[in-house]
Parts: sequence; C-alpha cells; structure tokens
Amino acid sequence: MKPSLSLAARDAIVAACLSRPEWECAFRCTWDTAHQMVISATLVARGNAAAVPFLVTQYGRGDIALHTHPLGASLEPSPADLECAQTAARMGVGFGVVAPTGDDMHLILTPDALAPRITPAMRADAPRLRHWRLWRFLLSYLPP
Ligand SMILES: [Zn+2]
Repeated sequence: MKPSLSLAARDAIVAACLSRPEWECAFRCTWDTAHQMVISATLVARGNAAAVPFLVTQYGRGDIALHTHPLGASLEPSPADLECAQTAARMGVGFGVVAPTGDDMHLILTPDALAPRITPAMRADAPRLRHWRLWRFLLSYLPP
C-alpha cells in the first residue's frame, strides 16, 4: 500500500505553504498504520529556501515529522534530512518530505518501521530463539 495524505492533511500543508511555497515548512503529522495514511498535519516551523528546523520537542512517539522542499524541487532527502531521520527513529517518530502542493510525498521511515524488534511473544520464546541462534552460529561454520 502506497502511503498517502488525507484531504485534511493535504489542505493543512497547502494552506501553510501558500504564501511562501519556495520556503520549507515543517509539520507534526499523525499517522494511521492500517491505512498507511498521514491523517493530520500541524505546522510547527517555517524555514527558508534551503532548510527548516527539526524541533524534536514538538513530536511524540508514533508521529511523523514531515517537511516540505521548495515548490518544484526534488523530494530527494538531503544529507541533513537523513541525519534528522536517524534522530527521529530514536524517538519513535517517522520522517519524510512532502511537496508544498501536497500531491507528492517521500517517507524516509514510518513509525511502523520503528516498532520494537522484540515482541512479548518472542521474549516468551527466548530459550528456543537462543537455541536457534546457536544452531545458526554452528551452521555458519559448515562448508557451503
Ligand atoms: Zn529536506
């Protein structure tokens, strides 16, 4: 399922960018995992034509931090974007780039991708998992 924007989120992004679509804006967004959809977008910062601050205090676990790139520019993440995505990942926050027109979006990561890797069921299975890891370790020494 391709991630999408709700009409409400798109409207909020378009409205915030209308006066200066050539400058970047940052949004705190809520995310619906089941529908792979950005549900809402709240403007949290405005930047310039090259950057917008990533205000870490504005986001909670499960949110997505979206920011625009200038109108007509590529949505390809900059090196700074990829660094911010690392920080967002540590916070359990998704990260992405959206067009100021709201008609294109590139999610670098979603909150779903940040779910804990060890589930309670796996923890209950830990003795068996350890056994499996031991086997995998031993098998790695077998010739191909
Ligand atoms: Zn960017």
